[in-house]
Amino acid sequence: MSLTRLLCLLFLVAAVACQNTAEEEPPKTERPNILFIMTDDHARKAISSYGSDLIETPNIDRIAQEGIRFTNSFVTNSICAPSRAVLLTGKYSHLNGLRDNRDHFDGTQMNFAKLLQQAGYATSVIGKWHLKTQPTGFDYWDVLIGQGNYYNPRMVRMGDTMTHTGYTTEIITDIALDVLEKRDTTKPFCMLYHHKAPHRNWMPNLKDLPEFLQKEYPLPPTLFDDYAGREAAAAQDMEIADMYMSSDMKLLPEDYGEETGTGGGGASNFRAPRNWDNLRKLLTPEQRKVWDENYDPIRKAFRENPPTGRDLVIWKYQRYMQDYMGSVASVDENIGRVLEYLDEQGLAENTIVVYTSDQGFYLGEHGWYDKRFMYEESFSMPLVMRYPAGVQGGQVSDELVLNLDFAPTFLDYAGVEAPKDMQGASMRPIWEGDTGDSWRKSVYYHYYEYPHGWHNVKRHEGVRDDRYKLIHFYHDIDDWELYDLATDSLEVNNLADDPAHQATKERLQKELMRLREFYQVPENDTSDMAN
Ligand code: CA
Repeated sequence: MSLTRLLCLLFLVAAVACQNTAEEEPPKTERPNILFIMTDDHARKAISSYGSDLIETPNIDRIAQEGIRFTNSFVTNSICAPSRAVLLTGKYSHLNGLRDNRDHFDGTQMNFAKLLQQAGYATSVIGKWHLKTQPTGFDYWDVLIGQGNYYNPRMVRMGDTMTHTGYTTEIITDIALDVLEKRDTTKPFCMLYHHKAPHRNWMPNLKDLPEFLQKEYPLPPTLFDDYAGREAAAAQDMEIADMYMSSDMKLLPEDYGEETGTGGGGASNFRAPRNWDNLRKLLTPEQRKVWDENYDPIRKAFRENPPTGRDLVIWKYQRYMQDYMGSVASVDENIGRVLEYLDEQGLAENTIVVYTSDQGFYLGEHGWYDKRFMYEESFSMPLVMRYPAGVQGGQVSDELVLNLDFAPTFLDYAGVEAPKDMQGASMRPIWEGDTGDSWRKSVYYHYYEYPHGWHNVKRHEGVRDDRYKLIHFYHDIDDWELYDLATDSLEVNNLADDPAHQATKERLQKELMRLREFYQVPENDTSDMAN
């Protein structure tokens, strides 16, 4: 026997021996920490690793480069509070009971934080919560009241209300870092670090104002969409053209005269002509001085040469994008602070870091801002994650994943069995590059907030596979829409009545029925006023 063969044989014997030992005594692996970073209304188009030409987000990109980025990640119901209820419970809205922003979350039901807490994790939630009832399942919670303000926020820390001074994105990060610093190091941690930004009405940090207010953004091809063949799209009230001059554009009545925007309805204080003035007064004198220095030239230019018609829409779009992107810039910078902390503390290797948003957002596509529709911009959520100890970096996945999958995924990595009634699936096989052919091939969506609430988006449900999307709008309308995403990524060509696509439509209608049954959607859920 040659020396090489002998060495090979010895190696094999050793390997088998190791395997046997491993079977007898499973190695004690350290359970990973979980840092779940979520923002509010962050579109993929505003993240550079998703190919954005609108902004650089080096820190979110870093998570993607050192981990995995998803190109087909979606929410089950594209609106703030319902999305949060889904991620906590791993259940669709009709089962977790929170169908729209009016509902209160039932905190007595099971959520993944409770299960991790029971399994010995130190659990915390910092920042945006928005579920109306107190957080349950968290050892520590310090959350914004309702939507929260961009500056000088009021927050509730374990039941005590306190007002902070400063920029909210930074304050939430300061608190998160403080909680990490003081954590019980004998336990793994699970922290939900959730930002308010970049939710409406988009107020950047003081230091970012000069840079972003100078920027000019390319116009999306569908900024002046005519909504042909799309009845529900035509009926909405979420066009940039109708944004408020005061609260959105940050002008004062003396600048624009009469308020013409409808802004999607909503609370009267948001509609008030002096809304911006009222928000401005909540700033400290030092903050207000910086805002006025940056905004006075914008107000002056508008007064001297007020745009009208399409020029006004374009002006509003640019103003919207400047403030939105400025708000995103601070989120990215603060995520960088947290990633640095993990590096410094030697925690990066064994911490799962997830970056996502509660749903996507329109940045002028179809002429819109806001979310709600099952069209790609708001149906999708950004999703990147990193776990150096367990997941190879540099991956991109096009599997169809949902916010329904977060809870089972975290439980899986923590070694906790997910309750049988959780409806999502652990993403672990995808993260570890081993799904075979077993992953879901279509996703189910359902939006409920109509006729009450904001923006006049009709109730709808739908199904999407790797190429086609079928949507059914109902309640006071009965309208089907079908899109071929391979040839119509802008979703302007409704094929539902196209004879050449009837077989596809029927196939997807069957799939929709199958998914309704699979996810236990009540029969009457698509009837009038189901809740
Ligand atoms: Ca949101």
